[in-house]
Amino acid sequence: MSFSKIDKRDLYRCVSCGNCRSVCPVFEQSGWESQNTRGRILLIRDLFEGVVHDDAVFESLNTCTTCGYCKTTCPAGVNPPELVEAARYGLVALGKMTPTQAKIHDAVETHGNTLASSDDRRAWLAGEALTIPKNPEYVFFVGCLDSYRFPDNAKKTYKILNRLGVGLLEDEKCCGSPLLRIGFNADDLIAHNVEQIQKSGAKTLIAGCAGCYNTLLNNYKDVCQKNGIRTDFNVVTVSQFLAAHLDDLKNAGLKPLDLKVTYHDPCHSGRHNGIFDEPRQIIQTVVGANNFVEMASNREKSRCCGGGGGVRSGYNDLSMAMAKRRLADIPKGIEYLVTTCPLCYRNLKDAGGNDVKVIDIVELVEMAMENQ
Ligand code: SF4
Ligand code: SF4
Repeated sequence: MSFSKIDKRDLYRCVSCGNCRSVCPVFEQSGWESQNTRGRILLIRDLFEGVVHDDAVFESLNTCTTCGYCKTTCPAGVNPPELVEAARYGLVALGKMTPTQAKIHDAVETHGNTLASSDDRRAWLAGEALTIPKNPEYVFFVGCLDSYRFPDNAKKTYKILNRLGVGLLEDEKCCGSPLLRIGFNADDLIAHNVEQIQKSGAKTLIAGCAGCYNTLLNNYKDVCQKNGIRTDFNVVTVSQFLAAHLDDLKNAGLKPLDLKVTYHDPCHSGRHNGIFDEPRQIIQTVVGANNFVEMASNREKSRCCGGGGGVRSGYNDLSMAMAKRRLADIPKGIEYLVTTCPLCYRNLKDAGGNDVKVIDIVELVEMAMENQ
């Protein structure tokens, strides 16, 4: 059955109270009931019960960024982003998808990355005289966006990690997150990456992207179990790893910076997986507690950047409107907006239009390392 991934109990647990409407960043922009959590759930019930809808179904389901804010407000304990992903999966299984979904799927299937690039995934390493350790305990999982779109960030991150003995996978491919979030399966990609991880001998992956982190941590085990593949590795984010190595960074020359900084919590590392403290610990070590100011909404209540769940690719204007709304949360007097996910970085940077510079946390650490 096409909609077999939908958790029936979760679907009918919703009492249509509408609490979730108040926090849905898409509803905040569009105002349509079909584009808020409750409306999406009613639509998913229809699909589950065999009611046929026209293509407007995509405007409802595919505009969800899977930010998970709705989940935190639901008195019935529903997990709406999981239902949305399961419904997208059901539609795709019936051959129903938008051109954007098909394009992302073809790019990843053909090229092993979301950018449809045939370039060497490790081109960002060119010209760097770095020794990549053999049989390391940790490997850096770079991700598609940093590998192809933000090679400088990949390089800066790995130069710091390399000092701490971190290796790389020989042949990394897309983690599978973009496919899973928009309704496809990613079994082949996952099997490939797991084989690479086993070949590296590493016990822990360090993910450079919140989407990769969430997928490697929460989807790999299930998919591997289903396919009889052994998995025995841990996953951490770059910020978790660096926070655990702050003394090493200080010994390597990390010095305080006099900058006013705020932090944007990526939904897939923050709200979905509870990583709130480590990025703040790094930032406060670099700029001091008094120079760090929280955004108007933060931690569990952080507003989404608007880039996730395939929304940036499929609904650019909506995505930019959400990013602009997020930028409005920046407190006065801030010089740098720090984040820890290349998707958030791209969306917030592209939405621009103010005096605050958007940077990855690694850029902040690098500036502090150069401040000697
Ligand atoms: S808050 Fe929960 S129960 Fe209420 S409408 Fe939203 S999903 Fe349904
Ligand atoms: S996951 Fe985010 S975008 Fe999707 S319905 Fe919930 S609040 Fe709205």
